[in-house]
Amino acid sequence: MLRRVGPTLSHFLLERKNSTGYSLCSREAKMSRPVQAQRLEGLDKNIWVEFVKLAATYSKVNLGQGFPDFPAPEFLTEAFVGALSGKNHMLHQYTRAFGHPPLVKVLAQFFGKLLGRDLDPMTNVMVTVGAYQALFCCFQAFVDEGDEVIIIEPFFDCYEPMVKMAGGTPVFVSLRPKAPKDGKLMSSADWQLDPAELASKFSERTKAIVLNSPNNPLGKVFSRGELELIAELCVKHDVLCFSDEVYEWLVYDGKEHIRIASLQGMWDRTVMIGSAGKTFSATGWKVGWTVGPDRLMQHVRTVHQNSVYHCATVAQEAVSQGFQRELSLFGKPDSYFVQLPKMLQQKRDQLVQSLDAVGMKPIIPEGTYFLVADISKFKSDVPDDPKSDEPYDYRFAKWMVKNKGLAAIPLSAFYSEAHKNNYNNYLRFCFAKEDATLKAASDILQKWKQEKISS
Ligand code: PMP
Repeated sequence: MLRRVGPTLSHFLLERKNSTGYSLCSREAKMSRPVQAQRLEGLDKNIWVEFVKLAATYSKVNLGQGFPDFPAPEFLTEAFVGALSGKNHMLHQYTRAFGHPPLVKVLAQFFGKLLGRDLDPMTNVMVTVGAYQALFCCFQAFVDEGDEVIIIEPFFDCYEPMVKMAGGTPVFVSLRPKAPKDGKLMSSADWQLDPAELASKFSERTKAIVLNSPNNPLGKVFSRGELELIAELCVKHDVLCFSDEVYEWLVYDGKEHIRIASLQGMWDRTVMIGSAGKTFSATGWKVGWTVGPDRLMQHVRTVHQNSVYHCATVAQEAVSQGFQRELSLFGKPDSYFVQLPKMLQQKRDQLVQSLDAVGMKPIIPEGTYFLVADISKFKSDVPDDPKSDEPYDYRFAKWMVKNKGLAAIPLSAFYSEAHKNNYNNYLRFCFAKEDATLKAASDILQKWKQEKISS
């Protein structure tokens, strides 16, 4: 039998006291040092966490978060089922880190055709976990402490925290609305950059600009002239462009989506970002991609290989088949990229009409599946509270979902803290919804208007 020659280690630890007499190994011992990394400071709030929960609890009709409530196309879901249950059992295993070979090959062909240049699938294309991770990779790969990144407001909200997490400083420049003279409804094209203001934001500290065309939340499709202005400034100041083009196929009224990477001097300094979620109405698949010159992509790959490695192989296989189909039908009436915007344009018009009919003035979007509307005429239902530090549109949207069952997103969520209160009279609605959903939204609005008239 072993003879105990002294106290056991656990006994020793349990009994040992520090200078305040507190047992160092007590089960109750709490950490006292700060645990949160400094770079997370102030970034804990997230509009989607808050409003998705509100919509799930109260909404009868959810036009808040941006996803379709209609099915993804059959050719795509069939490709997924085929990949999942087919003979190639290797589709259940890891694939190439920077993108499943069939997917990067077809993306290189597809975007090579659009950009008019030969793309190498292995070096010019990388697959990501949705466009979200593509954005994260860009900020981590290129933004250093002290670097400035120009963000055009209103912006997809994650740009700001992502720049900050990388140690950079966001510099904001707002699109300025100009009311149309003829009393017509405003269009997203009426929201424009002031060229002098934009130019003033570029300095030697500027590392990159984030461009999102078509723009979430406004639906603005940047014109060639606007893109040329941005390109000129990028070249002049030797600045990178992260071009978030997730809504590239959702463009209406014959408008053209122009890829900034195709403008003079821009290929070498642009990372294009796309999303199968938006492109094929399958947001839950979380397949995205980046396209750019190898000298940039090599750094994007470094972030990717040291964080995510890759996304689900079967989803990548199915998206590759979707793109194969689209490549063979390119520009033809049967192409999903032709049919989807046609269908969405009708839905846009349906929602524009419903909002206009009740006086919630819509700003007609040229692209995306979002629409911003002015709530000024409904403000009497939700009185202002000067003591609240929450923007007015947040309170309005919360009131609306709780009292009317209609979920939308406050526009000021897409602005920096400094500019939030300049744009707090609007809500963003998503119209990628079944006609019945849009009709139900219209019914809620009509009933609300009637109640206002009779009260
Ligand atoms: N960029 C923009 C402008 C978006 O609106 C979204 C999704 N709402 C994303 C990126 C993220 O796309 P994904 O779902 O592919 O990650």
